[in-house]
Amino acid sequence: MPVIKPTCVRDLKLRVNLADVVSRTVTLRKAGGARLKGLCPFHNEKTPSFNVDPDKGFYKCFGCGKAGDAITFVRETEQLNFTEAVEALGKRFGIVIEYEEGSGGPTREERSLRQEIFDLHDAAAEHFFQAFKARDATGDFFRALWTEKRRFPMEIADEFKIGAADEGGSGLGALLLRKKFSEEALRKCGLFFIYDDVEITLGALRPRFRGRLMIPIRDHQGRVVAFTARQTDRTPEDDPAREAKYVNSPETPIFTKGNLLFNLDRARTAVGEGKPFVLVEGQLDALRCWSVGLKTAIAPQGTSITESQLVLLRRYHAQVECFFDSDSAGQKAALRFLPMALKASLEVRFLTLAGAEKLDPDLLFLESGPERAAEVYRGLRRDSAMAFACRAALPDPTQASAELKSRAAQAMFEIIANTESEVTRSQFLAETSSQLRLPLAAAQKDFQAFLQRQTRQAAPRTAPDSELHGASPSLGSPTAAANGSSSAHTSERHLLLLILHFESLGRPLSSALPHDWIDTGHAAGVLLNRFLGEFEQDAWPGRGHLDGLLETPEERALVANLMFESPAIDDPVKVAQEGLRQLRARALEPRLREIELALANPHADIESDPISLLKERSELQRQLRSPLVLAVAG
Ligand code: ZN
Repeated sequence: MPVIKPTCVRDLKLRVNLADVVSRTVTLRKAGGARLKGLCPFHNEKTPSFNVDPDKGFYKCFGCGKAGDAITFVRETEQLNFTEAVEALGKRFGIVIEYEEGSGGPTREERSLRQEIFDLHDAAAEHFFQAFKARDATGDFFRALWTEKRRFPMEIADEFKIGAADEGGSGLGALLLRKKFSEEALRKCGLFFIYDDVEITLGALRPRFRGRLMIPIRDHQGRVVAFTARQTDRTPEDDPAREAKYVNSPETPIFTKGNLLFNLDRARTAVGEGKPFVLVEGQLDALRCWSVGLKTAIAPQGTSITESQLVLLRRYHAQVECFFDSDSAGQKAALRFLPMALKASLEVRFLTLAGAEKLDPDLLFLESGPERAAEVYRGLRRDSAMAFACRAALPDPTQASAELKSRAAQAMFEIIANTESEVTRSQFLAETSSQLRLPLAAAQKDFQAFLQRQTRQAAPRTAPDSELHGASPSLGSPTAAANGSSSAHTSERHLLLLILHFESLGRPLSSALPHDWIDTGHAAGVLLNRFLGEFEQDAWPGRGHLDGLLETPEERALVANLMFESPAIDDPVKVAQEGLRQLRARALEPRLREIELALANPHADIESDPISLLKERSELQRQLRSPLVLAVAG
C-alpha cells in the first residue's frame, strides 16, 4: 500500500478550494460571510442545510450531520478510499502526489486498483471507438448498422463514443497488456473471462464482448465504468450469451448496477425549469431522445431502478417524466418505480401517447425526426402519478364492484404511504377517491386504518433499538449516568470543543489533565489526548492547520463538526474546569466505591490488605477534593 506523505496531504488541502470540490456535485449559493449553502448530497432534502466554509476547509450538513473536509467529501461522494481520494484531487487540481519512501511510489503497480480500472475503461472505450471508425470491414459493418439499421446520426456515435467489438475481440487484450495494466486490474475489470489459476497471457484473456455494438456506460461524473453490448449479426455462435440482445459488464470495483443512471452525466446539466428529467427504459431510447434534442433523458442500467439512483437524481432536479413502453412490461416497471420515486420526493408524471396501441420513445422519435420531435413531445399526454397508478389498479372504475374498488384503494394506499408530507398525502387521497369513484371520507378513513395496521406491523422492529440505547449508560461510569449524560464520551467531546474554540485553554488543560483520565476508546478521546500532547510539547499547529493531526475519516468528521459549532460560553475557563471535574470523577470514583464496598464487607475476598486499601482510599478522596484550577495566562 503506498502511503502519501502527510506534508503532501497538507499541501493539497491548502491548494484545493473546498467550494470547487463540492460544487462538482452540489450547486452552492452564498450563505452569509464566506459560507456557502446547498442541497445535501448525503440525504434527501428540499431546503439546503449543507454548509461549506471554504476558508476553514470544512463542510457540515445541519440536516443529517455529515461533516468533513475536501478529502472526506471526495471519499464519500465517489466511494474512494483515502489514498484514492487524495490521488483524485491531485489529478483534478494538477498537484503532484508524493509518497513515503519505501511505501511504494506512484508507479503503475501501486496505483490504486479502482483508479487503474477507470483508466483501463478509458483505454477500452477509445479502442472500441477506433474500431467503429476504422475504414475496414468491421468498421464499415458497424457504422452501417448504426446509421442504416438503427438510423442514428454519426454525430451521436462520436459524442457518446459508440464502439465496435469484432468477432475476435478486436485486440483489446493485446492493447491492455501493452499498456501494462496490472494482473489484478485485468482480472477485475469485467471485460474478460479469465480462469482463476491461469497466468495472465494474451491467450488467457478471453474477451467478454465479441461481435457486438458497444455503448459506454458513464457514471454521473462522466467516467466510463462499464459497457452495454448490443447483439448484432456478427455476434459469434460460441458467445456464451449469444441469444442475449444486450450484455452488460458485470459488477466490478467501479461499477454497481443499482447506482447508475445512463446519461445522467449529461442530462443533469440540461435539466431545469420546464425541463424535467425524462426516464426511459433503455440506453438506446435515451440516445434517441438526445439525438432529437431531448437532452434530459436518462435510463436505468438494466431493468431495475433503485432508491439510491433516485436520491442521486433528486440532487439535481425534482421533476421526472416517466416515459416507458406502453406494453405491460413497461407499465409494470413504471408502477415499481412510482413508490420509490415518491419516497425520494420526486414529482412524477407519466407520459402516454393518446390513442397509441404501442408506444416506445425510440420508435416515436425516430418517426417524428428531429424536426417534429419537440412538438410530438409536447403533445404527449401527461398523467399525474395517482391517475396513472389508479388506472393500472382499476382500468374501468365505472363498472367495478365495491370489492374491486376496495382492493384497488389498498394498492393505492401502499403507494401513498411512501410520501411523508401530510399535504401531499391528502392531495393524493383526494385524487385517488375521485379516480376510483370512492367517497373521499371513506377513502380517508380506510387510509388511516391502513396506516395503523402498518405501524402495528412495524412496531416489533423498533424494540431492539431502544434496548440498545437503554444499555449504553451502563457502559459508562455510574457518575456519568447520574450526571444525566448517557454518552460516555461527552466530556472529552466538550473539552475538545473548548480547545478548538478557545485555543489558549489548550496549554493549561494539558498540564491539568492526566492522560489516563481520558477514555481513548472513541475518536473524541483519541483526539483530545493527541491534541493535549501537542500543547504539552508546545507543538500545537493552530486550529487552521490540523490536517497533520487527523488520521481517520471519523476524526476529520468530528473536528469538522466541532468547528461548525458556535458554543455560547461566557466563561470558558469555568466550563473547562467543570469538564475536568467530570473526567476526574469518572476516572476515580468507581475505584473509590470498590474500596468502600470491600472495606464494608470484611469477609469478602479482598485482593489487598485493609491497610493499603485505607491508604488508597484517602489518597483518592484527597484527589477528588483538591481544587481544579486552570492556570490560564492573561
Ligand atoms: Zn445531509
